[in-house]
Amino acid sequence: MAKVIFDHVSKKYSGNVMAVKDANLEIKDKEFVVFVGPSGCGKTTSLRMVAGLEEISEGNIYIGDNIVNNVAPKDRDIAMVFQNYALYPHMDVYNNMAFGLKLRKFPKPEIDRRVKEAAKILGIEGLLDRKPKALSGGQRQRVALGRAIVREPKVFLMDEPLSNLDAKLRVQTRAEISKLHNRLQTTIIYVTHDQVEAMTMGDRIVVMKDGIIQQVGAPLDIYDNPTNVFVAGFIGTPPMNFLDGVVKEVGGKFIVDMGPIKVKIPDGKFKQIREYLNKPVVFGIRPEDITENIGSAPDDEIIVGTVDVSELLGAEVNLYMSVGELSFTASVDSHTRATDGEKHQVVFNSEKIHLFDKQTEKAIV
Ligand code: ATP
Repeated sequence: MAKVIFDHVSKKYSGNVMAVKDANLEIKDKEFVVFVGPSGCGKTTSLRMVAGLEEISEGNIYIGDNIVNNVAPKDRDIAMVFQNYALYPHMDVYNNMAFGLKLRKFPKPEIDRRVKEAAKILGIEGLLDRKPKALSGGQRQRVALGRAIVREPKVFLMDEPLSNLDAKLRVQTRAEISKLHNRLQTTIIYVTHDQVEAMTMGDRIVVMKDGIIQQVGAPLDIYDNPTNVFVAGFIGTPPMNFLDGVVKEVGGKFIVDMGPIKVKIPDGKFKQIREYLNKPVVFGIRPEDITENIGSAPDDEIIVGTVDVSELLGAEVNLYMSVGELSFTASVDSHTRATDGEKHQVVFNSEKIHLFDKQTEKAIV
């Protein structure tokens, strides 16, 4: 069993920097968990504590059933793939992959079996006698993965392993690592600042900010039900629109009044919202939940805005719009006829709105 548990784990660096604050998390055996958050949020520190490269200031980390706080990195049954996957330039691919096993005095036939098997999994069997300088960036990254795979560890730790690859290769390698996880059936903890990587790769995502775990959940769950303004804004591109509003009651129904834009709150959400009557809230809506007015919306739901700029992406177009002082982005079908500088009608899908407490920024509905 290779579950990994953070039990009230904190990390304090010298100079009173609290890099990780009271982290609690259980990563299941064979799970692919992605730590994501902006620079400096403590994700690398979390990973390095699992690896044994950083001391734990408070709490315990378990790998399997054992507390590993005082276990040396080499005895933790983990393998790490870094952003800077320095390969030995004078060794060929075979020996780069075999090196760690040789150091550990594995028998030659066993080394040979493992290197060839890893090479096969990664599709680099044909490159085993090449030196790193004769490889492309993507091939080098695969060798770095191979070096970790031959260790047959219980847990893989990956710290931004794709960040040195160009955009196209990154997308390709992202899919390869997901496939690799399916084949290897081992626990993977993966660190990235890229929310798209997190959304596409993880079984579960751990969103961090300022050393604190903000939310843990399946990608879609986090996308649909962000716990606070930070998570809502961090996950998703283009980001969720946020507008300041006040909850009001009109004819027995609740609405969010944002001045020139007013949006109905669905009946099912009245219970939670009642206590916010006449209070300020942060209103959130994702760009794809703002749709074109295709003629069926009641008049009071139609929002007439100006298209300041439109950005064609292919299948969809992002419309950067404004109504008076309010600005928002709508992501609509690219066949939409909208002209920059002209008025355009859109509708906010009220079933998809998010409301957050203005003070605590926590989700209300
Ligand atoms: P990035 O994406 O930029 O790598 P991160 O989320 O991985 O960021 P960490 O590297 O874990 O963040 O750093 C968390 C906090 O701890 C930051 O404020 C950082 O400056 C601080 N920190 C990291 N390493 C040390 C260290 N050795 N000594 C002191 N402070 C450190």
